[in-house]
Amino acid sequence: MVIDNVIAYDAAPQGQEGPWVTFARMETLRSPKTLHGPALGLPLLTFRAWYTAQWGDEAWAQLDKIPKDQWMDYLVWFRQVLNLPIQNGVRMTRISAAGELIAIDVEGAVNTTVYTRKLVLATGRSGLGGTSVPDFLQHVDRQYWAHSADDIDFAALKGKNVAVIGAGASAMDNAATALEAGAASLDMLIRRPEMPRINKMTGIGSQGVVQGMHLLPDEWKWKIFDYVAAAQTPPPHASTLRVSHHENAHFYLNCGIKAVTEQAGQLLISTSQRQKAYDYLIAATGFKNDFSGRAEFANIAPHIRSWADARYQTAMGSARTHMLEAPDLGPAFEFQERVAGACPMLQHIHCFNDAAMLSHGKVSGDIPAVSAGAERLVRGITAALFQEDIQQHYASLEAFAHPELLGDEWTDSSPLIKHEVLL
Ligand SMILES: Cc1cc2nc3c(=O)[nH]c(=O)nc-3n(C[C@H](O)[C@H](O)[C@H](O)COP(=O)(O)OP(=O)(O)OC[C@H]3O[C@@H](n4cnc5c(N)ncnc54)[C@H](O)[C@@H]3O)c2cc1C
Repeated sequence: MVIDNVIAYDAAPQGQEGPWVTFARMETLRSPKTLHGPALGLPLLTFRAWYTAQWGDEAWAQLDKIPKDQWMDYLVWFRQVLNLPIQNGVRMTRISAAGELIAIDVEGAVNTTVYTRKLVLATGRSGLGGTSVPDFLQHVDRQYWAHSADDIDFAALKGKNVAVIGAGASAMDNAATALEAGAASLDMLIRRPEMPRINKMTGIGSQGVVQGMHLLPDEWKWKIFDYVAAAQTPPPHASTLRVSHHENAHFYLNCGIKAVTEQAGQLLISTSQRQKAYDYLIAATGFKNDFSGRAEFANIAPHIRSWADARYQTAMGSARTHMLEAPDLGPAFEFQERVAGACPMLQHIHCFNDAAMLSHGKVSGDIPAVSAGAERLVRGITAALFQEDIQQHYASLEAFAHPELLGDEWTDSSPLIKHEVLL
């Protein structure tokens, strides 16, 4: 049994946490360089402070966007300077109830069961439901295709005919990486008839959105995220140019996939436009919120209340799967039960990642407002611990006997006054 105060476990090796130096294949972050990120309002902890301390104000002024590897270097420094209690190479594999506590099985560098009162799932984009893979790929041999978040051997794509499905940021970044590795040809197969051009959410960025989204009525939350989903997020300008400046890159819009079959050592892809054989396919098809896809959540998944269960009504707008699957979270990102009493530990498990967006806005799972999200989370957990331990706090209140006054700081004149009055 491990007993500790606060600890973070990460399955990734130290310095490789998150997507940055593994499956994020862009050159720079999309977010502006001035983002506050995880700095918790402390200017000296920002990327800017870290950067200018090393390369100066002039270099900062010249910097356009943050190179992604440099962002990882900053996160490594951030962890070191705050001496954060993180154990790497440790994967959580199971969550179960243990009386008043939550038992989590961890494997890897440490193999044990850890008991905790509160559990935060800061498991990233792929950490709740995993990758989203279209049905037409489910039974195709993995030697012919990968999801964009997989570990892909790009050197092996040299001289090959490659297809990429999707038109988001990851589609462009993976396509560009394949082209730069020497792919003979690269086709972007894009279902939508037009590329989205406007990143709608950036148009209303303000502290109001950060602090107020979670307080909006359900109708407004749904309306906003439904609208944003319908408008779709464009791939970044630089990532798109990184693909299109290759002469052997081709964009096919309005090109839905009908079927994918293996044929003579290749993939035959039938689309709404034509049929063509490829050596390799990269599916840049995003992530999902479906908890049942992750073994470590098997015990809690059936009990988690989703927006489909509790909050969505048809009058709110389109029934989008990723929104219907989103967990219906409480004020401190805690899960709620589908059936009251069926899984009480859910109120102590906090979902601090992309899946929280519909309940809480974009304050987890993205960098810019993550400090606001973290503060909301920690305040909620702190308040809950106090309420749960109220008996103990009350006993401490009664037992506390440390005097601030010793009794010799003043002279009591009141007996004399009383005496005078009596006379
Ligand atoms: C390709 C790509 C590009 C992105 N670019 C941007 C960007 O430019 N700007 C932006 O704001 N956001 C971007 N994002 C979103 C980005 O993921 C987040 O902003 C950021 O990484 C969120 O940090 P996080 O700590 O919440 O999650 P992550 O950084 O994803 O970290 C989650 C960690 O959880 C660990 N983990 C998961 N499951 C388990 C388990 N069972 N046991 C133990 N450990 C586990 C993983 O190993 C991982 O290290 C991007 C995402 C992707 C996928």
